[in-house]
Amino acid sequence: MPDVLPHHEFAREIADWLRSALRAVVFTGAGISTESGIPDFRSPQGIWATTRPVYFQEYLASASAREESWRQKVLVFNEFGRASPNAGHLILAAWEHSGRIARVVTQNIDGLHTAAGSRAPIEVHGTAKSVKCLDCQARFPVEPQVEEFRSTGRVPACPQCGGLLKWATISFGEPLDPRVWDEALEVAREADVFLAIGSSLVVEPAASLPRVAQEHGARLAIINREATPLDSRADVVYRASISEALEAIDACLL
Ligand code: NAD
Ligand code: ZN
Repeated sequence: MPDVLPHHEFAREIADWLRSALRAVVFTGAGISTESGIPDFRSPQGIWATTRPVYFQEYLASASAREESWRQKVLVFNEFGRASPNAGHLILAAWEHSGRIARVVTQNIDGLHTAAGSRAPIEVHGTAKSVKCLDCQARFPVEPQVEEFRSTGRVPACPQCGGLLKWATISFGEPLDPRVWDEALEVAREADVFLAIGSSLVVEPAASLPRVAQEHGARLAIINREATPLDSRADVVYRASISEALEAIDACLL
């Protein structure tokens, strides 16, 4: 069983890991953004508590499903638009700039790691900040497309080829982008420290990244308010608010 350490011991332990790490990798989930006001997946206020998601196959097959998907995404867009990075995102960005961690990999689509200053976070579930053309693969900023949808009520076409435009998030039933996923796997394999933060780690492939890192020699710490199925394999587990946990580690690094 892993050590479930008290606050100060945990913070000291992880600070020691980060000091000696050559390639520390942080993997985040929706939990890191709840303190920015974005509900996580399981929360009763979350959009999926009240809305049925549109599956990728439905999006391809049906114009009304595409309209429903855009209607939902505009709600998400409004929610994300008001959010700004919290202490957790900012500390991770600062660690990256000072060389304490090598890379952030995230399941989140809210763009808050980028807004906090993280360099090229690997977004395995895509991003709500862009739209992508399913025909020519071009990408565009989301704002003008949202404006068009709001004013016409119709799903916009690709400005480049007239093809099918979809939000650059991975829909239910849509395969991950293989290049992005391969990069996430490579980063996990090369990690010597792997911190999984704010994820329930119940959905594949999210749960496989910490396992891959461990199988390739990384030490694994899990920071999450609730228990996760990988707790028993982790070297250290910490159940706390993410911003408090990261602030405590950061204080030990000074
Ligand atoms: P999840 O909702 O399954 O798990 C989040 C975990 O974080 C929970 O176990 C919860 O207890 C914990 N948590 C929440 N706030 C916390 C806090 N302040 N301190 C400590 N722990 C906290 O999230 P997941 O594992 O990322 O899976 C959800 C899926 O939904 C992902 O695929 C993600 O793409 C998507 N999603 C993204 C966002 C976003 O971009 N912000 C929001 C909701 C859902
Ligand atoms: Zn196109």
